[in-house]
Amino acid sequence: MRPLMLRGGRVIDPAFEIDGAYDVLVIDGEIDALEPSGTLAPPGDTVVIDCTGLWVVPGLIDVHVHLRDPGFPQKETIITGLRAAAAGGFTTVAAMANTSPVDDTPSIAGYMLEQAHAARATRLIPVSAVTKGLAGRELVDFAAMADAGARLYSDDGIPIDNEAILVSAFREAARINFAISLHEEDRALTGHGACNAGDVSKRLGVAGIPVAAEAHRVRRDLAIAVGAGAPVHIAHVSTAESIELVRAARTRGANATCEATPHHFMLDDGAFARFGPNAKMAPPLRSGEDVAALHAALADGTIDVIASDHAPHDPVSKHLDRLAPLFPGDRDAARLSPDDAEILASSANGIVGLETSLGLALELVDKGVIGVSRLVALMAMNPARLLRLDAQGTLAPGACGDITVIDPKVEWTVDPARFLSMSRNTPFTGRRLKGKAAYTIVAGEVVHAMRPLVEMNRT
Ligand SMILES: [Zn+2]
Repeated sequence: MRPLMLRGGRVIDPAFEIDGAYDVLVIDGEIDALEPSGTLAPPGDTVVIDCTGLWVVPGLIDVHVHLRDPGFPQKETIITGLRAAAAGGFTTVAAMANTSPVDDTPSIAGYMLEQAHAARATRLIPVSAVTKGLAGRELVDFAAMADAGARLYSDDGIPIDNEAILVSAFREAARINFAISLHEEDRALTGHGACNAGDVSKRLGVAGIPVAAEAHRVRRDLAIAVGAGAPVHIAHVSTAESIELVRAARTRGANATCEATPHHFMLDDGAFARFGPNAKMAPPLRSGEDVAALHAALADGTIDVIASDHAPHDPVSKHLDRLAPLFPGDRDAARLSPDDAEILASSANGIVGLETSLGLALELVDKGVIGVSRLVALMAMNPARLLRLDAQGTLAPGACGDITVIDPKVEWTVDPARFLSMSRNTPFTGRRLKGKAAYTIVAGEVVHAMRPLVEMNRT
C-alpha cells in the first residue's frame, strides 16, 4: 500500500486540542506524522490529496446502528450498510445485536466480522446482546463475546425489564470493563403509543408515549449503576428529564455516558404529524423544549456521543401502502381513523441515518449550538473512548489511519433514492444540508470519495 498524505486541510483533533493547518501522513495503515502544513517531506511514492478548504478529522464512529444482517436482507445487509456508513463519513460502526439469529454467540459475531471484511469499507464492531435471544432472562457469556470482537453490550430495541438481570449484567460489564448500552423504555407506559404524548398525538387521534416511559427507566437504571462501578451508556436520550438524571447520577459517581441521535435533536413531534411512519421511532420525537434541552446538553458535555440509530426498514414493515397517502410530508396529516391509528402504532420503529447524520450534526455547528471541536469529540473521540478503541478517535502519530475529510461548504439535498443503504425510511427527504464527507479513509485506504480522487502534482 502506498503512503497517503492529506495536505493543507484544517486538522481538528480535540484529543490534543489541535485546530489548524496541518499535513497528515499515513504509512502502513497508521498515522506516521502530523505536522504544520508545508513542513513534511513524504516518501516519493506517496499519494497526496489536496485538502485545501476541507476539514481533516479522526475517523467518525457511530456506536449505534442496525445493519439487519443476519436475518433481514430486504432491509439491509452488512455489505450495503457498511458502504452507506463509508459514504456518510464513518470509519467504524457498532452494529446492534437484534438480528436473526441474535448476536449472542461468538459464531454470529464471527459471521458479522467476515461480512464486514468482504465489504472493504467501514470497520464493524459486533455489539453483543446482553441476554440470550434478547429474551431478558439469561446473560450471554460476556467474556466469550469480548473475545469474539464485542466492545459494547446491548439488547437495544428491547429494554431490560428485570432488575436482577440488569444487576448481574453490570457485574459482568464491570469485570471486562466494556459498557452496557441501554434502550430505556417502560413498555407498560408505551402501550400502543405511536408518538410523543402531547398536542400532536391528540390532534392526530393516536395514543401517545409519555416522557415517563423513558425517564422512569433512566432513573431506575442509573440508580442501579451508581455503586455498580460498571460503565453504563444510555442510548438515544430524548427527554430533558433523562438529561437531568444523567447529570445527577454523575455527581453521585455513576460511570455513565449517553448519546443523542440527529433526529431527536433536529426534529420535534411536529415532524411526526407530517411524516408519520417515516418519523416513527422508539423513543419518539419529543417536544420543542426537549429538543432545546438536548442542544444545551450537547454543548455542555452532558451528551457525550452523537449516534445515528440507523434503523433501515422496508415499506411493508412501515405499512406505507396504507399510511403514506395520509402523511403528505409538506403539511400535517388530518385526524386518523381508529383503524389507521392502530396500523400506525404497529408500523415498525426507526429511520435510516448513516448518510444524513454528519450533515445534520453540522447544522448544529452552522447554527452556533456547538463548535467544530465539540462536534469531533461527539462523533469520533468520545465514541472511540466508549468502545475503548485506543488507537482511534485521534490523529496522533501511531493511531490508526482512520480519517474523515469533511467538505464543510458543499450544499446538497437529501434524496433517499441516492442512498447506498437499501432502505429509504427517513423524514429528511428534500432537506437542504451543508457539509458532507469528502473522503472516508480506513487504515490509510480511501473507502469513499465524494469526487474522483485527484492526486496533487507533487513537484
Ligand atoms: Zn433503541
